[in-house]
Amino acid sequence: MIIFKQSEDLVNKLQSLKKDRKSIGFVPTMGALHNGHIALIQQSLASNEITVVSIFINPTQFNDKKDFEKYPVTIEKDIELLAAAGCDALFWPTLEEIYPHGYEQPVHYELGYLETVLEGKYRPGHFQGVCRVMNRLLDIMPPDNLYMGQKDYQQCMVVSRLLEIMQSRAVLHTCPTLREPDGLAMSSRNTRLNKTERENAIAIFAALRFIKENIQPGAVSAVIERSRQMLEEKEFRIDYVAIADATTLEPVANWDGKQKLVALVAAFQHEVRLIDNMVLNP
Ligand code: AMP
Repeated sequence: MIIFKQSEDLVNKLQSLKKDRKSIGFVPTMGALHNGHIALIQQSLASNEITVVSIFINPTQFNDKKDFEKYPVTIEKDIELLAAAGCDALFWPTLEEIYPHGYEQPVHYELGYLETVLEGKYRPGHFQGVCRVMNRLLDIMPPDNLYMGQKDYQQCMVVSRLLEIMQSRAVLHTCPTLREPDGLAMSSRNTRLNKTERENAIAIFAALRFIKENIQPGAVSAVIERSRQMLEEKEFRIDYVAIADATTLEPVANWDGKQKLVALVAAFQHEVRLIDNMVLNP
């Protein structure tokens, strides 16, 4: 595996590979890698001749400074995992490499409704930051295929919109959420949970499964209310528990029994904010 710190070196390498018509798969991450990330990499490896992974903790997508400062960093282990997985190239840029002119100057991507709900509402500016870093990464290395996790459901929709805005030819592949054996969605932030918090955290999966198993056509408020209680019983402070149209994320108050739905949760287990979702009628 080649490790690139400079975008110029990566660009040169990828240009020569493109000449040979090699297909490039790209998996952007913020490091502290786990099997969820590795699953994305495996999907890329299976369908592309070259797989590039990036590790960059992007300051512009953190609306909470403390969350940014406490974001786990495990670069040595990450490099070992990537090499063992068979990844071809790691792009591990510095802040200056991604934002050579700084990032104080505001930017704006027209994300419309998507930015006004759920993560967009509770993390102001977050998706602008996601678009900003993704735009830069995709400019440096226009991939043929881009792999992202369903765990960040709304982010996948935002990036899909960004690809349209950029008129990018990259194809976005949304990969299923990998879970721990007890159901907790794998996440770099899970490493910040202590033993009790880790046990409590299962309540998110339980709440989502409760919604999936109990939702009936008609008003959905009762299943939402019960799932909120399940989270609160395990000391979660809830940002949202929502049932939404799976393709638009518009909230659904009354289900007609046919519309494709997704349930989404964001909640703090003490200091650590966790998110998860489940498609209810795939
Ligand atoms: P992150 O490093 O958290 O920014 O995540 C990098 C990519 O991995 C994103 O596309 C995430 O959606 C994806 N990802 C994170 N956790 C999981 C998981 N448990 N299963 C599948 N993909 C994941």
